[in-house]
Amino acid sequence: MNMPVPGHIDPVPVPREVTPRADGRIDLLGLPKKQIAALFEQAGLDAKAAKLRGKQVWHWIYHRGVSDFEAMTDIAKTTRPWLAQRFVIARPEVVEAQHSTDGTRKWLLRTADNHDFEMVFIPDADRGTLCVSSQVGCTLNCRFCHTGTMRLVRNLTPGEIVGQVMLARDALGEWPKGSMSGLDAEEDEGSYTSDGRLLTNIVMMGMGEPLYNFDNVRDALKIVMDGDGLALSKRRITLSTSGVVPMMERCGQEIGVNLAVSLHAVTKDIRDEIVPINRKYGIEELLQACAEYPGASNARRITFEYVMLKDRNDSDEDARELVRLIKQYKLPAKVNLIPFNPWPGAPYECSSPERIRRFSDIVFEAGISAPVRTPRGRDIDAACGQLKTAAEKKSRSELDRIAAEKQAALES
Ligand code: SAH
Ligand code: SF4
Repeated sequence: MNMPVPGHIDPVPVPREVTPRADGRIDLLGLPKKQIAALFEQAGLDAKAAKLRGKQVWHWIYHRGVSDFEAMTDIAKTTRPWLAQRFVIARPEVVEAQHSTDGTRKWLLRTADNHDFEMVFIPDADRGTLCVSSQVGCTLNCRFCHTGTMRLVRNLTPGEIVGQVMLARDALGEWPKGSMSGLDAEEDEGSYTSDGRLLTNIVMMGMGEPLYNFDNVRDALKIVMDGDGLALSKRRITLSTSGVVPMMERCGQEIGVNLAVSLHAVTKDIRDEIVPINRKYGIEELLQACAEYPGASNARRITFEYVMLKDRNDSDEDARELVRLIKQYKLPAKVNLIPFNPWPGAPYECSSPERIRRFSDIVFEAGISAPVRTPRGRDIDAACGQLKTAAEKKSRSELDRIAAEKQAALES
């Protein structure tokens, strides 16, 4: 029968607000254009000047990657320090950058209030995909996912989400001019795409459940998609959810990006065990929401992610049931089979390559695309489900011990 599932299955989506900056300045990154103008007006500029300066600053931030007001040469010399006293254009801090032997790169990032999170860049022959985090940790405890063993620290802000894309452009040297100083742009790696860019796609598949941080993810992706912002097409952005059914329609309507759904199992028993949110929103409800997802069509199919776990969800029968469900709900779907990526203490093993091949064949034979994903960046723990920051890698008992030692030191 079911194994007991640790942790909450009914998480509180928004744990707490961001700590304000110690220096009192306001971070402009991630704010809508209109809000930037409004802030300039509040700070003392007249309405017309505020609007114009807002537009100029926006252009420097998102078109040129500039984070220093001094570099904004079309803004009056005297206005630049005035701006710098009141505002900043902050990037998340890069704590560590790692490089896999397969070209995958992982960055450990830190927020201004000292929370660590991760982002991953995966270069391929015809594209470069940035895997972006939406939360520090995750409230949902999927049993096969390392991130799920972290407690949720907080939602990332729109600035911290857009900031990941900005940092990737910094690191890849992909701003029109300048701003690459000090970062290791490596030109010998990956191939340039037709439009000359390495970073072509974004997937919201890093740490966290993006639909439990809906507003911030939406506001960030609006900037990423804005023609005057980072100008990435919504067709090149995919949001992955473990199945937060009530937010799926709004995701389609208000963000309009491609949808990926972490299905992972086709029976209630198994999905309850491995994706505990299933106890709240079951498979039928989830697939119905997929059938109604705004914008889904044969040209824009929904991706079902399916992690291959030995003897749990990988039988021929499971594959046939998957096909049946997709057909029953008439879903324009493709399936991504993800070999399970191990992590220390994980309660599962990966299915054998033969089993995965057989599973894939059954789905393919039914006319549904079901490629097997090659794991990327496993050597630097950058593959799906391996993200967990070092600070959080300490076990609860270790943290308790450290706290007790600190307390003892204080008392002595
Ligand atoms: N929280 C969202 C997005 C992040 S996870 C979601 O769950 O959809 C990105 C994908 O990696 C999900 O499909 C997730 O189920 C999968 N994944 C998690 N742990 C994994 C592991 N250990 N091996 C392979 N895939 C994993
Ligand atoms: Fe959270 Fe997604 Fe990991 Fe589940 S798979 S614990 S929803 S990050």
